[in-house]
Amino acid sequence: MSTTALVARTDRDRFVALAFCWADLLFEIDPQMNVVFAAGPTEIFLGKNPPQLIGRPLAELMPPADRPTFRRIFSRSARSGRIDNEALTLNRPSGGILAMSASGYWLDGPDCNLFLGMRRSEALIHSPAYKTWSGLPTARAFSRLAGQKIKRLHAAGKQTELALLALVEFEPFYERLDDGARGQLREKITAALKASSIDGESAAELAAGRYSLLHEADIGLANLVAQLEDIVKSLDPFGPGIKVVGSLIGMEAAVAVSQEHLATGLLFAMNRFRNTRGNNFNMGPLSANIAVLCRTAVMEINDVQQVLAGARIDLAMQPIVDANSGEIDHYEALCRFRDAAPSASPYRAISLVEETDMIVDFDLTMVKKSLAWLLSPAASSRRLSVAVNISGRSVGAPAFTGALLRLLKEQRWSRGRIIFEITEAAQVKDLSMANRFARALRKEGHLVALDDFSAGAASFHYLSRIEVDVVKLDGMAIRSAEKASKGRAFLSALTELCRRLNVKTVAEMIDTPERLEFCRDCGCDYVQGYLFGKPAADVASFSPLPSAHLFRPEYWAEGGSWF
Ligand code: C2E
Ligand code: MG
Ligand code: MG
Repeated sequence: MSTTALVARTDRDRFVALAFCWADLLFEIDPQMNVVFAAGPTEIFLGKNPPQLIGRPLAELMPPADRPTFRRIFSRSARSGRIDNEALTLNRPSGGILAMSASGYWLDGPDCNLFLGMRRSEALIHSPAYKTWSGLPTARAFSRLAGQKIKRLHAAGKQTELALLALVEFEPFYERLDDGARGQLREKITAALKASSIDGESAAELAAGRYSLLHEADIGLANLVAQLEDIVKSLDPFGPGIKVVGSLIGMEAAVAVSQEHLATGLLFAMNRFRNTRGNNFNMGPLSANIAVLCRTAVMEINDVQQVLAGARIDLAMQPIVDANSGEIDHYEALCRFRDAAPSASPYRAISLVEETDMIVDFDLTMVKKSLAWLLSPAASSRRLSVAVNISGRSVGAPAFTGALLRLLKEQRWSRGRIIFEITEAAQVKDLSMANRFARALRKEGHLVALDDFSAGAASFHYLSRIEVDVVKLDGMAIRSAEKASKGRAFLSALTELCRRLNVKTVAEMIDTPERLEFCRDCGCDYVQGYLFGKPAADVASFSPLPSAHLFRPEYWAEGGSWF
């Protein structure tokens, strides 16, 4: 061994010893950005031990959206000789993202190797993978940071509160603004929320027009509400303005809760707030006590985990009916938790699961159950087809898409008998990736639907970016169209657009003969709703189809009343 090599080894050893005082993980990277040496608990952080990392590009350990940032930091450091506390992200083995802070040195200049230390970061990451309209982090990323901050401030004897704020009817307001005003709105809202939050960095965007921020307990809700209302007024001085409503959750009881459970409870509260519809933002008695909220959240997650582990999930089927002939085209498989009341909606539990990595297992379980249903005597004798819901979050998880495509390749017989409904498209982070997934499914001979389609601009954006076969029109959107004076014209134009795109339309939540007639008049191809039966385990209950008489031409010819 030459002397220079010895010196380098000693240097490296010194560096390793020193760097471990600061870092969780250490890497030595060659000028091609491949790992030459790795140390630290890589198995826990990355799911791979150090020898498995050697020779691999470091960027491979990061979410694809963040790799360009890393490459930029890397090449800049080759010139400056160092990296100082840069925010980077790493993929967690379970599918999430780790926020890291990185510092490093080119020990012997840019022709040798970069020594890079990384440690878990408390700072908010501005990763494209976390991109929101405001640039604030998502509820998921924020909940972990907020959990840490609350605990730290508590230890210092300070009280905090979580504020949940909603700008009512935000989307129609936003649509009315021009580009310049939209940019100003974004900057002002983001600045106001940050300024009122702890350390100026403890605010999150939950959905369009819905925010959350952690602040010291003396700010008061009225103050925050007035600030946001003023911002809106300043950008639209002659408009009617926007009502801002909100809710505060005190964190006194957080002392009794572990940091991890606290993060789960905060996420649960934010999700409940995000999912409230209309103007009813009352968080109910739970909001009084964060400890109760955390317990409920943890219990619900444990329940779902146990349900998944024991596969205690049933399918409830609901027919999708041809709007003109009244023939059943296929059935939608809806999940029912065995221990809940048979008619109880799984929606709340699913939205919570969507915030965890469990959604991938959950959606895969539902696909497997639906395949088993297709093989059951009731379904196979008549070659019935089934629609399965896939969360927008799973669509972006390679662990899900890879496993699903493998499963479908093994079960080729299912071609043409499954429709995949992408729900909550707002949770799809990367639309190009979602489109590649939809293409892969369609190439395999399956149909893809966009669920929850509403009249909002976002829905049209998804429709233009993801190639689908079917659009499912949200029941609420149908109801508003029925009520609004121009609703008929809008819905007809939408079904016409879909026809031109070769996309079929399904109108959801059809529960009266008049609504069926309205949808049919507006050109919807299929209908689904309680008028043709509530979801049921046994599809025999839909034969004969309830309300079958509504499809006989004589019914409407005679003025639409046989009762
Ligand atoms: P979705 O996919 O849009 O499903 C339609 C929902 O509307 C079902 O609620 C159904 O019971 C309900 N529905 C059908 N007809 C009517 C009607 O005439 N009136 C009213 N008021 N409601 C009607 P459900 O089963 O409670 O499911 C709610 C949501 O939960 C689903 O909305 C879907 O987003 C999600 N979901 C259900 N099962 C699964 C699943 O297996 N996987 C995933 N990822 N999501 C699921
Ligand atoms: Mg659906
Ligand atoms: Mg739907």
